[in-house]
Amino acid sequence: MAFIKINRENFFHNLSQFQLKTGSKESIAIVLKDNAYGHGLELMAKLSAEFGLTQAVVRTHDEAQKIKQYFKQILILGDKAVIDDSCSFAINSLEDIEKAQIGSRVELKVDTGMHRNGVAMDEIEEAIKRIEKRELILVGLMTHNRSADELSSELFWQQKNFEKAVSVTMSHVKNIRIHSYNSATSLRLPCNNQDTIRLGIGAYGYSELPAIYDTLDLKPVLSLWAKKISTRKLKKGERVGYGGQFIAPKDMTVSTYDLGYGDGWMRSNSFEPFVTAEGLPILGRVSMDYIVLESTKDEVCIFDNALSAGRELKTISYEVTTQLNKKLKRIVT
Ligand SMILES: *Cc1c(COP(=O)(O)O)cnc(C)c1O
Repeated sequence: MAFIKINRENFFHNLSQFQLKTGSKESIAIVLKDNAYGHGLELMAKLSAEFGLTQAVVRTHDEAQKIKQYFKQILILGDKAVIDDSCSFAINSLEDIEKAQIGSRVELKVDTGMHRNGVAMDEIEEAIKRIEKRELILVGLMTHNRSADELSSELFWQQKNFEKAVSVTMSHVKNIRIHSYNSATSLRLPCNNQDTIRLGIGAYGYSELPAIYDTLDLKPVLSLWAKKISTRKLKKGERVGYGGQFIAPKDMTVSTYDLGYGDGWMRSNSFEPFVTAEGLPILGRVSMDYIVLESTKDEVCIFDNALSAGRELKTISYEVTTQLNKKLKRIVT
């Protein structure tokens, strides 16, 4: 079966790079949502703890349950707040406050311009009032940037809005943590003024930023591998796979490998075939469980850099890794 290799050394290298910016391991919250961007939730939680991280971010309380043993503090981005000493829950709207269990720990998310989640700038005081009334424990104030990975000044406009949100909030409550940095923001700005950064894609070794923001040396953590099922000889003119789309231009030896869209590999466009890390174009269409390559090797590396793979597939690194099926075995190297 196709499998994934996780490079521990590269992961630790990336975390160290961000640690240089934050000044400490405690101020990095590793984002492990969506199966740790496809890398494997429990596995990456364990490696993060081994490195010395103490904080994580996930989407659901279910995910948090699976990795609780590894962290002191887990932020949950999109689930109903319940009482749990090791978790805090993002408040994405005024309604979230009403739904939250009395006594639960929450972090107020402010919409500083992304217009996706968070209470509006002019709802902050109302939100704080309601949080107090419902006896929730407010432990943080946060926002998310919409354009940190684009060459524009929008990030600074959002940061200004967030500063306003912070000062309004601080005039009502004390002792809460403040955070707004994802990977792209952490690459662009100094991080030593943040209680914590929420580090996702950068930890896995990618930056989708324009090259001028390549301020850190990041190394891809994940590579995808497939195993050989069978080998056959093709005569010139014979066709391969569904629709017979690939036509052998010469006599050649090809093998079938056990990777397909059922494993979370993209079917994509077979007229512009994906070229593997070893320089082999996928021959014809990607099936549910199989691809064909001109190779006889027992194992082939499909990609070892989701950033360049994503460019080839006309998408982003996040999507390439995140959709890799949970059932694929993850091996730490
Ligand atoms: C996913 C997410 C992050 C991490 O973003 P990266 O670009 O992967 O670093 C941070 N904060 C929030 C709220 C998120 O949803």
